[in-house]
Amino acid sequence: MNNLNYDPIILTQALVKCASITPKDEGALDIVQNHLSHLGFKCTRLPFSDKNSYDVDNLFASIGSDGKHIAFAGHTDVVPPGNEASWKYPPFSATIEKDKLYGRGTEDMKSNIACFISATEKFLKKYGKNFVGKISYIITGDEEGEAINGTPKIMEWTKENNIKIDHCIVGEPTSNLQIGDKIKIGRRGSINFFLTVKGVQGHTANGHRAENPIHYLTNLISNILKTPLDEGSEFFLPTSIQVPTIDVGNPASNVIPEYAKASINIRFNDQHTAESLIEWLEEKINSIFSNKKNVSCKLSHEINGRSFLNKPGKLSEIVAKSIYQATGRNNEPELATDGGTSDARFIKNYCEVIELGIRNQTLHKIDEYIYLNDLKELTNIYYQILENYFTKN
Ligand SMILES: [Zn+2]
Repeated sequence: MNNLNYDPIILTQALVKCASITPKDEGALDIVQNHLSHLGFKCTRLPFSDKNSYDVDNLFASIGSDGKHIAFAGHTDVVPPGNEASWKYPPFSATIEKDKLYGRGTEDMKSNIACFISATEKFLKKYGKNFVGKISYIITGDEEGEAINGTPKIMEWTKENNIKIDHCIVGEPTSNLQIGDKIKIGRRGSINFFLTVKGVQGHTANGHRAENPIHYLTNLISNILKTPLDEGSEFFLPTSIQVPTIDVGNPASNVIPEYAKASINIRFNDQHTAESLIEWLEEKINSIFSNKKNVSCKLSHEINGRSFLNKPGKLSEIVAKSIYQATGRNNEPELATDGGTSDARFIKNYCEVIELGIRNQTLHKIDEYIYLNDLKELTNIYYQILENYFTKN
């Protein structure tokens, strides 16, 4: 316990050496907990179970008193390395080569957690425990997997225990060309629709005695694609509709099949909700099928993520200022909403949340790596955020 090292490079290496492929932990949460309790944090392990998923261990840690409350959120689990033989260095060896550190989880997102901890240590060294307010850590062992026993349950637990968080930074890799040039303030939502049209099977020579479901399905799809749902908004790209597959499975060229199926994926912005899209599609279906006797269309759906936007507020202001102060680069960070989902979607109902982290370039790939220099910059930015948050506002 005495030789704990708060250098973000060494800390990232220690975390990467734990092969914490979801839902395994392999000691990763202990490393985070040991470093935080040594700084005076009160650490609470939150193992959760659920009949719908595997068991997951999580960590909530806090330091400070009443007042403004900021949280750092992240995950210690990683995706599988894939074919280990394809890696330049073993994926959990955390090997440094020149200015790079290689390993599964270096970018997504163990380095970000290491920088959180390193920045917090620096902040507490300077201000002691006398700053007014509270710093917390929300760390889950299940973000890359089902995420049932992870962040959503930690957030419920904070509510049950009357812990009120005001602002949260999620350490997902968001930067583009330079650290801090891009932060995320929301995400698009995603919904899948599954359409099954049932017609009347028959001989292609006797079309009048059959009902071809493919004709109805393609008519429906072209109707869906005809008019864009929107043109985008201030912080969002236009909603995108994609048809990943149309399936009939009919090998005979002289048979009108009975069924035709298709799926549709919609990535939607803040002008829609999953519910409004379901209603929109039901109307389209009704307009074609409602007066048909022998043809019908069945619809089911799967909501993968809901769209959300944190209107740029106090936190994004502090973050933008801190990036400038820490790096000297004064171009405003891009406030983005692109990319896949993250645990920010579970936190947004509790407080203002933004995502800010290392450069997004190799996550989930073979030979995932980060630049050592980026760790220093990111730590400086996180430190500056804490200083501005607690002492200058
Ligand atoms: Zn991640």
